[in-house]
Amino acid sequence: MNPTDPWTADRQRIVVLGAGFAGLWAAIGAARKLDELGIGAERVEVALVDRHAYHSIRVRNYEADLGDTRIPLDQLLPPIGVRHITAEVADIDLAGRRVIWADGSAPLAYDRLVFALGSRLVRPPIPGLAEHAFDVDTYEGGRRLNDHIEGLARRRPSPGQWTALVIGGGLTGIEVAAELPGKLRAAGGGDNASRVIVADRQAWIGSDMGEEARQVIDEALTALGVEQRPGVSVASVDPEGVTLASGERIAAATVVWCAGLQAHPLTRCFPAERDRFGRLPVDEFMKVKGMAAEFAAGDVAWFAIDGRRSCVMSCQHGRPMGRFAGHNVVADLLRLPMLPLRIDWYSTILDLGPWGAVCTAGWERRVASTGAAAKRTKITINRERIYPPRSGDRRELLDAAAPVVQAPPPFFR
Ligand SMILES: Cc1cc2nc3c(=O)[nH]c(=O)nc-3n(C[C@H](O)[C@H](O)[C@H](O)COP(=O)(O)OP(=O)(O)OC[C@H]3O[C@@H](n4cnc5c(N)ncnc54)[C@H](O)[C@@H]3O)c2cc1C
Repeated sequence: MNPTDPWTADRQRIVVLGAGFAGLWAAIGAARKLDELGIGAERVEVALVDRHAYHSIRVRNYEADLGDTRIPLDQLLPPIGVRHITAEVADIDLAGRRVIWADGSAPLAYDRLVFALGSRLVRPPIPGLAEHAFDVDTYEGGRRLNDHIEGLARRRPSPGQWTALVIGGGLTGIEVAAELPGKLRAAGGGDNASRVIVADRQAWIGSDMGEEARQVIDEALTALGVEQRPGVSVASVDPEGVTLASGERIAAATVVWCAGLQAHPLTRCFPAERDRFGRLPVDEFMKVKGMAAEFAAGDVAWFAIDGRRSCVMSCQHGRPMGRFAGHNVVADLLRLPMLPLRIDWYSTILDLGPWGAVCTAGWERRVASTGAAAKRTKITINRERIYPPRSGDRRELLDAAAPVVQAPPPFFR
């Protein structure tokens, strides 16, 4: 990577790091605000940086068909005049206001920064976990898991050939587990041969979802034939399966690790106290507390989203955080008033595979719909609501990044 650096003293630059749900929308949001002010790229440049040349619809990585989950950035950015840099960020020089690249190319100077490098699944030092467990944290991880399952029929027969063990019974683990019976069946494991287990240390699978939704999850997993193993912990993983702390052995050719999300490690560059997920504190304008030129949005940042409760690492919050960060970073640069973000609604929509889904409304997670009706909501979100416009139309793209809070998703009944 060697981005040419046409930066001059009379031209200012906004750099957005990360083209995920927060970063993509921050970059489009900044372009929208500059367009509104009639300011062109010759005066303020917006540059969006990601290690990939695509925007990943990360929330779909548990699905069987990942064909439409990567949207090339060169379909989105040229119409709105945002510069795209494909590069690995290694560090941020806050004092010098420069982004440092992993390949040692000349650093990129910024006047304002939006830090949106997201989160990553953390693997604890359980023997064999790093080498033998799959994940769905990234497109590449989801693809690797699906390729492995498609290849199971060609493996030497073994006791765990058609057994899949998901470790982590949170939202992602449940979505993965609910898809696995279908994936194993399609790969050649008969209904009788294949076995899916979801295990967790906690006393319940889906313990974050509240009592009402947990009953729905239990009903769905039982109907799908997914076994639940709460209250267990994994001591080691090997190519043939897992050994639990109790000494019990589970033969499984497919082990998927779904526990332990942490904010991006480059949050450590900032002199701010991070929360237990490693997130940076931001104010209601998405500016990193204590910083003059740096904003943060998405999974790397936290603030009280409704004035009381911390935002959740989710695209539900990451996308509006990005839109507001994009608006505010331009406003701050040009000394205009910034807009505070406040969202008074919260919902969760959990995919339960062929059984359907469960939608909850409110922070107390009251069940709002279940089964096929909830699945329609999930499909609308995963395949429409969270996608950027793909028409290539400049106006449509800019309008989609307006700093407004969307209404809650429709709950079909
Ligand atoms: C399987 C799964 C299901 C999920 N389901 C839901 C759901 O139903 N609802 C919901 O709201 N949320 C869900 N989430 C969470 C959601 O995906 C995240 O909260 C969201 O992606 C966060 O957006 P972000 O922009 O902060 O980070 P990301 O989307 O992770 O984007 C970060 C970007 O930074 C780039 N990057 C990282 N490091 C570097 C580097 N050093 N150099 C250059 N580029 C870099 C990455 O390539 C990536 O494009 C799910 C997550 C997973 C994995």
